[in-house]
Amino acid sequence: MRGDAETTRATGSPPALRRGACPTLAAPMQTGDGLLARLRPASGFFTAAAFLDLLDAAEAFGSGRLDITARGNLQIRGLRAESVAPLSAAVARAGIVPCEGIAVEVPPLAGLDPSEWADPRPLARKLAERIADSGLDLAPKLAVIVDGGGRLHLDGVAADIKLVAGAADPRPVWHLLVAGRPTGVSGSVDAMIEAAMSVVADIAAYGSAARARDLPAEPLPPGSSSLALREAAMSPVGRFDLGASVVLGVAPAFGQMAAHIVRPLILAAVAEGVSAVRLAPGRAILLVGPAGWNTSVLVSLAASLGFVVHAGDPALRIDACAGQAGCASGRIDTHAVASHLIAHAPALMDGSLDLHVSGCAKGCARPRVADLTLVAMSCDGRPGLSIVLGGRAGDSPVATKRLEDGPSAITALGQRVAETVEKGESAAACLQRLGPARIAAAFSAARFNGIDHAGL
Ligand code: SF4
Repeated sequence: MRGDAETTRATGSPPALRRGACPTLAAPMQTGDGLLARLRPASGFFTAAAFLDLLDAAEAFGSGRLDITARGNLQIRGLRAESVAPLSAAVARAGIVPCEGIAVEVPPLAGLDPSEWADPRPLARKLAERIADSGLDLAPKLAVIVDGGGRLHLDGVAADIKLVAGAADPRPVWHLLVAGRPTGVSGSVDAMIEAAMSVVADIAAYGSAARARDLPAEPLPPGSSSLALREAAMSPVGRFDLGASVVLGVAPAFGQMAAHIVRPLILAAVAEGVSAVRLAPGRAILLVGPAGWNTSVLVSLAASLGFVVHAGDPALRIDACAGQAGCASGRIDTHAVASHLIAHAPALMDGSLDLHVSGCAKGCARPRVADLTLVAMSCDGRPGLSIVLGGRAGDSPVATKRLEDGPSAITALGQRVAETVEKGESAAACLQRLGPARIAAAFSAARFNGIDHAGL
């Protein structure tokens, strides 16, 4: 990595991002609003002071806009080639050591939550060191998780390799999953590091772009230990009384925030004794405060600053990218579309659907398939809004409307579902029953309703 940093300083330009790689401080990614660098602290948290320094640096060297990704990484937007090296220096001065190479992720409350089976961090550190020392040429997006359980366990987060703690006397036992499948392999920390490294080597043998899904699926050995099914993880938004600490989770709308909006929240949190900031899958900020912390004042402040403070807020159900407000490639105001969806199509917001709003076909906010995607596309050579079912932003839409008809189309689809849904039926089941043709018809029939939705 030193070589990369020296290259950056010597040429004034960050090195090109390897295809399929994750953008880092050393190799940021070109986006519609400049370079983007992703940052994950090796420690798993930021001190509150370091996070404030980072906000200053994001404003000084970037556009001041930051994202929290679906996996809980921080992205700093709007960098220029010549501002990347000064940003790296500012990060170092703040005492933040970025995670380099393959990250081994742990739940965001790791080590704080008394309900976890085991603190996963020591195992995660050892495994990360072993992977780094192996010298294997691995896919940059290879995902490795060590999950000790607890309120915000990572069952819902995909990984190539997962070690999951389960109950056993006298110590917890760790179970190995590969590509989401149980392997029946379980054991102590040391044994599972060897087991995980064996899988890492198997993956590497398939090439530098290989993932665990490329491995042949092995049948479970007879009599192998199994993992107990767990309840779904809680939302990261809310108050967590963890005994020795209280953690408050809030979420910037659609995971995007401006440094000058977050700063007053962090400053107020510090005044209330918050010492650390963690980022969580689900695009949330976790403020780690003292035992017995009464979070009500901070919740009110966060709400007034536009943060989501209730776990049931429908905004948490929608993945939306920066759109035209923060990205030169954006053709729609994604936040306005998402807000219209929430306000005017409540029948779609029952929590059964994964919803995605994208400013262009690239689909940055959700590379995975969504049940329903609204994406900016051309309509007869003019700006349009398309609906994609069960696909990605770049997939073929079932219908496209002119942009000015977009709000009416969303409202009409919501009304169609509200009129069609049967008692006890979810929106997802209703859409399934309606099928693509009738969904497209509902979306397409809408006409401009005379209300100016400029910017949508
Ligand atoms: S998907 Fe959104 S953030 Fe990504 S390039 Fe397109 S408009 Fe920009």
